[in-house]
Amino acid sequence: MTALPIYLDHHSTTPCDKRVVEAMLPYFSDDFGNPAAITHTHGRRAAQALDEARRSISSFLHALPQEIVFTGGATEANNLVFAGVDMPRGSHVIISGVEHKSVLVPATRLRDKGVEVSILAVDGEGFVSVESLLSALRDETVLVSVMAANGEIGTIQPVGELARVCRDRSVLFHTDATQAVGKIDCHVDQMQCDLLSFSAHKFYGPKGVGGLFVRQGVRLSAQMSGGGQESRLRSGTVNVPGVVGMSRALELRAAEMADESERLTGMRNDLWDRIDSEIPGSVVHGPRRLRLPGNLNVSFEGVDAESTIHALRHFSLSSGSACSSADREVSSVLRAIGVSDERASGSVRIGLGKVNGNEEMAMLVEDLKLVLPRLRELSVRPV
Ligand code: PMP
Repeated sequence: MTALPIYLDHHSTTPCDKRVVEAMLPYFSDDFGNPAAITHTHGRRAAQALDEARRSISSFLHALPQEIVFTGGATEANNLVFAGVDMPRGSHVIISGVEHKSVLVPATRLRDKGVEVSILAVDGEGFVSVESLLSALRDETVLVSVMAANGEIGTIQPVGELARVCRDRSVLFHTDATQAVGKIDCHVDQMQCDLLSFSAHKFYGPKGVGGLFVRQGVRLSAQMSGGGQESRLRSGTVNVPGVVGMSRALELRAAEMADESERLTGMRNDLWDRIDSEIPGSVVHGPRRLRLPGNLNVSFEGVDAESTIHALRHFSLSSGSACSSADREVSSVLRAIGVSDERASGSVRIGLGKVNGNEEMAMLVEDLKLVLPRLRELSVRPV
């Protein structure tokens, strides 16, 4: 028997894996030491756990341990990039038009400091092209930031190709890989990035912990000053249970990710086909290929997302991006790929994860077939 409601919002966050919780537990009350207090056993034990986690996390990303800076999540990691890279007045930064707000807001705020910011247009599926990057680059460009994968429409960017263009011109390349790490391969040398952000709660780890990969030799200044715990780039006592949990979560992803991605891609494509063929007036947004395995974004003509989600009471679903839905703006990502505001307001994001199965997909289609005609009848808008 399926437990209700069924969680279909895995881009917003994921349940912390019980095996991850188990790994974290000793570091709350038994091995609770401060990893900076290495004069005693308690501190040294915590420091050792932190070292091991750093080694394991860096090897997952094919990075060096000293290239990982632990943060309180991806928002902080992204902010550290835009505050930490040296950007004199008159310098130039490029971001893509589908970035998360934790990139978009700190990047566009740089304009107040006399930094020029270009926002790259994307195509109808959300892809950034090498050609558009090439034409946006200037002699003054110091940083380019393009996300690895989009949490709303699932688009997986050609990060390696974009980063190579930047490397050839000695321009720093950052990728917000929050939606990619733990779901698709994220190998910092293949991606050729200088900076990469990630967050544990997106890959079955705990909330409030993440990190920034900072390639050796990349100069960054601290955003948060104090004791200088994280390579002097991020002060504050490190969240040891969180980091241990993040490390365990990535170990599990390393073992389980490939099979799960295949399963989720199959399940998502079947759901897509059924919605396409059985639900008239439905439009899927985003690409079929190079898409995050569990992602589907679909709008139902003539019905707003809020009504659909409310009517589908057996499911936990989100409209657009959960992170931005609090302010109820039309999704800037859907706008960037040319979706009309009216259609975008009807967009529902379906985020499948390891807890979901085929039976639940069948239930979702049946429920959609039941509620949509009723909602359309009630709607004052023409279908
Ligand atoms: N970047 C992207 C692409 C995201 O999807 C999110 C979370 N929705 C974030 C950054 C922010 O991550 P965190 O919750 O760890 O601050």
